[in-house]
Amino acid sequence: MRLSQMLFVTLREDPAEAEIPSHKLLLRAGYIRRIASGVYAYLPLMWRVLQKVSRIVREEMNATGAMECLLPQLQPADLWKESGRWDTYTKAEGIMFSLIDRQEREMGLGPTHEEVITTIARDMIRSYRQLPLHLYQIQTKFRDEIRPRFGLMRGREFIMKDGYSFHTDEESLKQTYQDMHQAYSNILRRCGLKFRAVEADSGAIGGSGSQEFMVLADAGEDEILYTDDGKYAANVEKAVSLPPEVEPSPFKAYEKRETPGTETIEKMCNFLKCSPTNVVKNVLYQAVYDNGMVVLVLVNIRGDQDVNEVKLQNELTKLADHYRASTVLALTVPDAAEQEKWAARPLPLGYLAPNLSDRYIRPAQPQPVGAKASSQVAPRFLRLVDKTAVDLKNFATGADEAGYHVVGANWGKEFELPERVVDVRKAKAGDRALHDPTQFLKSARGIEIGHIFQLGTKYSKAMGATFTNEQGESQPLVMGCYGVGVSRLAQAAVEQSHDRDGIVWSPSIAPYHAIVVIPNINDVDQVKAAESLYGELNQAGVETLLDDREERAGVKFKDADLIGIPYRIVTGKTLKNNKVEVVKRATRETQEIALESVVETLKQWISACE
Ligand code: ATP
Ligand code: MG
Repeated sequence: MRLSQMLFVTLREDPAEAEIPSHKLLLRAGYIRRIASGVYAYLPLMWRVLQKVSRIVREEMNATGAMECLLPQLQPADLWKESGRWDTYTKAEGIMFSLIDRQEREMGLGPTHEEVITTIARDMIRSYRQLPLHLYQIQTKFRDEIRPRFGLMRGREFIMKDGYSFHTDEESLKQTYQDMHQAYSNILRRCGLKFRAVEADSGAIGGSGSQEFMVLADAGEDEILYTDDGKYAANVEKAVSLPPEVEPSPFKAYEKRETPGTETIEKMCNFLKCSPTNVVKNVLYQAVYDNGMVVLVLVNIRGDQDVNEVKLQNELTKLADHYRASTVLALTVPDAAEQEKWAARPLPLGYLAPNLSDRYIRPAQPQPVGAKASSQVAPRFLRLVDKTAVDLKNFATGADEAGYHVVGANWGKEFELPERVVDVRKAKAGDRALHDPTQFLKSARGIEIGHIFQLGTKYSKAMGATFTNEQGESQPLVMGCYGVGVSRLAQAAVEQSHDRDGIVWSPSIAPYHAIVVIPNINDVDQVKAAESLYGELNQAGVETLLDDREERAGVKFKDADLIGIPYRIVTGKTLKNNKVEVVKRATRETQEIALESVVETLKQWISACE
């Protein structure tokens, strides 16, 4: 392609709308254009990158035996009501765009396709003989993200490869899951990315696991904890570790102490001269279930530890039955305004005791007959104790009175140990690893590019998708699902590979392999040499741009650097020796190559990168 004939507009200045390098560069280099919040046009250079990524994804998926298809983006609400996700997705999380058609039917724009694929499987899979089966698609997804940002990283319209597999049993699912692990590793490697597969949270679905593929970059929204021996890596949401040892308690006897102005653990420990490991911290949360039930949750945890809210939410989802609900819609630390809605009197925040009385919760007012039920508040605290707090002896904790703590307390004496012992502590960098306590967890930031997931029978059971096994019995299909953010991947590649002059694409996903730059468009020899190289290179399968614009050489070099084409060929002064100057974008390594060897040399370089 000739730059003179392209929509080629680059910006010298960083656009104000962008915060991270990859977003700035894609805008400046004319790859993308913002149309609305989280909605971007993929301009011709970007579209070529996306097609290259898609091709790699396709090749690796097809190699596993998965089959490509294309599912509708417009999806009937009824399917989502069957799986029980319509309200959560359109109202609670509100991530799904929904609309009403002219026949007054509710529809949604697909954020994901479990419902659609499960209804197809329900209709078309009858027998174990048809299994296993894996279908995938590459398609635009719609998600009304709360905070769309960073360009293609978190868009409201973005391209995803999503695949769904169906199996007779867990073992077959595990095989496909392993194949996907390999395929995803291959995809990321071929795209030239540095990545790590990490254990991921599977929500409360359980299943036998899920892993995320994280591209390592400081701008990543996710935190990864890993060990140097390479044996452990997990998303912080999911990570486990050994907490530090408890220090011996300085308290010998139970007593109440005046501790003015010590509402934080740090202030309290300074005042009482104890370690945070001698403290039971009592944290109050407010959970809202999908039936409107509000539950106040009191978590007792060791003073030096923090609550991992993802783990807590999973525990609360497991208890949903208890409140005649099926899922948790929101989990927050209730602020003053929220507390006013249910508290009978002000809570002694910062000094809460483990046995905080249920009388802090205002009894429900009888509703007038026929009144619309408002949200109900469970009359008792849901009391959970984290494992770290269970074995503490002679601990310090709140006295249920502002400005006072108790010390030398023990479970079973002054306080009753809650029945529900849970693991909701947040692992952090510096903790010892479970698999080997001589290893310490380290922290890195990552961009989630892919997620592979053993779903089990969640959707097949909810939607009645069954098959007949060898014994002639009807069983729910066992399912897996696997997603790659194609557009996010393309931007992550820029985030990981750029310098101050611009993008540095890996040749495998660069929009073009090479750019032939004519320094002086009025020099006939330069033009002639460039034109013939341009023709020969493209003919030989080296995808090449020709910068034939009427611009100064400096401008052309700057633009070539900015858009990140791997190899720049300059038909300048060296022509008098029948040579051209070839510059590698990544290393800036420059060499003079004889005109007749250019095509062969580039072909070799490119195939070495495939
Ligand atoms: P996140 O936690 O980042 O919101 P997710 O876990 O909701 O992502 P999945 O449902 O697992 O995302 O989707 C599969 C893949 O699609 C993700 O791994 C990611 O690469 C990509 N993806 C998800 N949401 C977006 C988005 N808003 N913009 C671009 N890519 C996205
Ligand atoms: Mg995910």
